[in-house]
Amino acid sequence: MPVECREKIVDEREAPRIAAALLDHYDAHARTLAWRISPQQRAAGVRPDPYRVWLSEVMLQQTTVAAVTSYFNAFIGRWPTVEALAAAPAEDVLAAWAGLGYYARARNLIACARAVAADHGGRFPDTEPGLRALPGIGGYTAAAVAAIAFDRPSAVVDANVERVTARLFAIHTPLPAAKSAIRAKVAQMLPAARPGDFAQAMMDLGATICTPRNPSCLLCPVAGWCEARAQGIAESLPVKPPKKAKPARTGTAWWIEQQGHVLLVQRADKGMLGGMRALPDDGWSASRNGNRAPPLAGQWTQLDAAVAHVFTHFSLDLSLALYRGPQIDKVAFENLNGACWWPVERIEEAGLPTLFAKAARIAIQHR
Ligand code: SF4
Repeated sequence: MPVECREKIVDEREAPRIAAALLDHYDAHARTLAWRISPQQRAAGVRPDPYRVWLSEVMLQQTTVAAVTSYFNAFIGRWPTVEALAAAPAEDVLAAWAGLGYYARARNLIACARAVAADHGGRFPDTEPGLRALPGIGGYTAAAVAAIAFDRPSAVVDANVERVTARLFAIHTPLPAAKSAIRAKVAQMLPAARPGDFAQAMMDLGATICTPRNPSCLLCPVAGWCEARAQGIAESLPVKPPKKAKPARTGTAWWIEQQGHVLLVQRADKGMLGGMRALPDDGWSASRNGNRAPPLAGQWTQLDAAVAHVFTHFSLDLSLALYRGPQIDKVAFENLNGACWWPVERIEEAGLPTLFAKAARIAIQHR
């Protein structure tokens, strides 16, 4: 028998009951999150601001709520509307994003904000296809914004929802092949009223109760319907594909300091950490070790300390070399790949991505 046949079919009378149980639980226990409206606002019929929903959903991709909250508050404080974000210089937005990782998201964020401001009068489209047509908005984000901001009946499936649904219906098919079956189950449960709250209720359940390890089934509002719980296999679902070993790369970053200023460059728009301010380096990438010669001849000190950093597809051991002279003309590098001389004492304000921020701290200790 194919494994898919073991999945329980939602009885059409049960689906609304599952959704109702989730919504009741959500009304009593919804997480308080910076981007959400309050229960009082919800009860008064206030709709979430699409800009806040979109911004939070982009930030939350591959990133935890704890890591996102301060960034979200800082962005909203500085750019309270999508028009304000659209009008911001790209380098300011990239610098404000520094440390949050997955920097392609920041570049897409700028492109999307500018498209909403220029082509839609500052208002986000209110349908999934309309949102999907914006730059940088994929299927998940379009569904989430459509459901949460506009109460469209969209099936919103993030990692939390994936886990809850795979367990609820004991879906044994490994990910990612199980995605279509999971989406179909979510669509079956989707209530006609409050689809946005339903999406958030599912996310909350996965984040707080149906956790990857030790799910709190005794507290779960849908335990009575849960097939994985009945079979005692909750923790084994969803079935994940085996992890691939990540290639290990090496590289070197160059610390060139003159008169209290360090040379920073702007990375190429496309590729790793695209468009971000950074230390110059020897050209490492996901596919090869760095091998370029130092950017200027002279005396260099190679440090023993290195930065170990893990990207999605590879790990990097970044060594550091400090320029020791002779004295160079500070003007020499200006206008080279966005190069600038940045005051060392204000390096934390440079908006360096985490990798280079760590490297800069080590260099400062050894200079
Ligand atoms: Fe998850 Fe347990 Fe609830 Fe099933 S009963 S959905 S396994 S928390």
